Amino acid sequence: METLTHYINGQRSESASGRFGDVYNPATGKVQRKVPFASRGEVDAAVQAAAAAFPDWAAQPALRRARCIFRFKQLLETHHEDLAAILTNEHGKVAEDARGEVTRGIEVVEFACGAPQLLKGEYSDSVGSGVDSYSLRQPLGVVAGITPFNFPAMVPLWMMPMALVCGNTFVLKPSERDPSASLMLADLAKEAGIPDGVFNVVHGDREAVDAILEHPEIKAISFVGSTPIAKKIYETGTAHGKRVQALGGAKNHMVVMPDAPIKQACDALIGSAYGSAGERCMAISVAVVVGDETADKLVAQLKEKAAALVIEPGTIPGAEMGPLITGEHRDKVRSYVDLGVEEGAELVVDGRDFEHPTSKDGFFFGGTLFDKVTPDMRIYQEEIFGPVLCVVRVYSFEEAVRLVNAHVYGNGVSIFTREGDAARTFVQRIEAGMVGVNIPIPVPMAFHSFGGWKQSLFGDHHIYGPEGIRFYTRLKTVTQRWHSGIKEGADFHFPKLG
Ligand code: NAD
Repeated sequence: METLTHYINGQRSESASGRFGDVYNPATGKVQRKVPFASRGEVDAAVQAAAAAFPDWAAQPALRRARCIFRFKQLLETHHEDLAAILTNEHGKVAEDARGEVTRGIEVVEFACGAPQLLKGEYSDSVGSGVDSYSLRQPLGVVAGITPFNFPAMVPLWMMPMALVCGNTFVLKPSERDPSASLMLADLAKEAGIPDGVFNVVHGDREAVDAILEHPEIKAISFVGSTPIAKKIYETGTAHGKRVQALGGAKNHMVVMPDAPIKQACDALIGSAYGSAGERCMAISVAVVVGDETADKLVAQLKEKAAALVIEPGTIPGAEMGPLITGEHRDKVRSYVDLGVEEGAELVVDGRDFEHPTSKDGFFFGGTLFDKVTPDMRIYQEEIFGPVLCVVRVYSFEEAVRLVNAHVYGNGVSIFTREGDAARTFVQRIEAGMVGVNIPIPVPMAFHSFGGWKQSLFGDHHIYGPEGIRFYTRLKTVTQRWHSGIKEGADFHFPKLG
């Protein structure tokens, strides 16, 4: 069986830790390779390689760094299909969805190519007599990324191209559940001419993460994953003096107003609740429907479509939903469905007994739909991260807004309506970081930034886009006067330039 390696200082590097994890093919349920779990010493080797590469890389003109990133983008495009195939193989998502993930990752690489423009500072001529002032954005040093299983290519690409083009060097700790995509990114980065040590990959579990959190040479950490871990990363990382952005979990609501086109709202809900088997941080997991008449119509249509989902291994053409990531995760999703029944929600479509006819050991779970879910239920409050959609019935726009704003998560939210006034009020008052109007999954394009509010993000910066540039740089402001403008004699007052 294949055993994966780390990627340190431009080389595939075999692990000596003696600890390994299993990497499954979720569609067959079989272990297909082993992933090493790095020791502290192995994390340190990656950090030292990144630290050694930093001075030369940071000293390159931004344009030269951007050219390397541009070549990286071209290679990603050439290998788009290979990378997508790795995602389907280890994550389980269907081929078209995997291709979409790679495309969204490449868009961030494209944005990073504009670094010479994005890193431009500000200049003020004559802030005082003979005095000028300007600002620089400089890299931080070695920065680290810790990423989740559900986007094994896109989330590392939210971080690495932005960090690198700003002049930092990078250590990535990808999810141990689908680690192969990160090694392909490392190979392509090398082929693109990114110097050895600038981008490193160490696999691992908690031990590797703790080593990153405590390493004095690491200046900043970008994390994406579940809320309890995001909170820990933020608290521990900042306690060790690091800049941290930690993106956490979600429970994304879609409000359906009585005037919304029901068929379009239904299609949007089906795609966003069950696409990628619900394993998306921007999946819609709660439909908030205003009025019983709208709810009755919508639930009838949802029922039909959720029961008819094409659930197949991701490699099968026409598959709409693949398996979940592991058997353990599938059992957790099942236990939430059991809980929903106990809590008194109406189970309209039950995915618990779904069994794939030929792939019996795959981690498949059927599309599941609950109606009449109420805010006191745990299936409403907690992130399930599976193909389970909860319908909550409310009786006014105000009640819908209050419900969304009272939830602990605030990642994405959406409203479906034809009424501009309601939509605009919703956008103004809703407490979430990313809002869709007649768009079910409002993931910002690469030239905006991605991030939630409340328990969905710890830290001050959203990820990629302009916020990414700010996160991966620090500001320096220069105030300068040349010799001919310097008056003789000491000045003991607080400097007045103007
Ligand atoms: P996770 O929190 O279990 O793991 C994320 C990373 O943290 C992995 O690299 C993992 O190895 C590491 N980790 C796990 N447990 C740890 C521990 N005890 N100590 C230190 N490190 C630990 O998340 P996951 O299951 O891989 O991903 C799914 C979660 O990620 C969901 O909650 C989803 O909403 C969230 N997510 C959020 C966003 C976002 O942008 N907000 C995007 C994608 C995924």
